[in-house]
Amino acid sequence: MSRKLLSAEPDPQDPEIRDVLRAVRTILSYIGEDPDREGLKDTPRRVVKAMAEHFSGYAADPEEPMQRTFSEIAGYDEMVLLSDMEFHSHCEHHMVPFVGKAHIAYIPDGKVVGLSKLARVVEIFSKRLQVQEKLTAQVADAIQRNLKPRGVAVVVQARHYCMCYRGVQQSMAWTTTSKLTGEFLDNPATRDEFYKLIAMKKTY
Ligand SMILES: [Zn+2]
Repeated sequence: MSRKLLSAEPDPQDPEIRDVLRAVRTILSYIGEDPDREGLKDTPRRVVKAMAEHFSGYAADPEEPMQRTFSEIAGYDEMVLLSDMEFHSHCEHHMVPFVGKAHIAYIPDGKVVGLSKLARVVEIFSKRLQVQEKLTAQVADAIQRNLKPRGVAVVVQARHYCMCYRGVQQSMAWTTTSKLTGEFLDNPATRDEFYKLIAMKKTY
């Protein structure tokens, strides 16, 4: 299910947009600012515009990019790996960014999907409020459901700004989450190969 697309050019006459603009003003006052000073006058509108980008994933269907698959793959049945896909998301607990990389591998069972489509699936799920564990599982499940491969492996590595600049102030900490299915779970050699390939990338 997808929701309406947030407008990149919010209409200030739209009652809902008016409410959001007012809410941003309220937040500015709350933190001790004067929402009417020169530098902040246009900030509510900019925040609403930025939200359209940060949260564009609600209006998109993550199943859609995988509807077109290719079966002419000359019997290719080895791992397909797309690593180091950068993503930007926002944690659902504090609404602050967490950013990092996603690595996806799957072992096709007769069909593959365009590589950019996998990146698109990561983008759709990450442009929503998230927790990293959920993002990881949602990407893996969507691929498993649509491609029905012999296995999927998704590893997500991210830095959470809510940990960097507030709370425990761990600015160097990386969080790693993973979800594996099928052969990646059942076959230690396949799993090791995957982890070796994504580790190798770091040295380039
Ligand atoms: Zn957080």
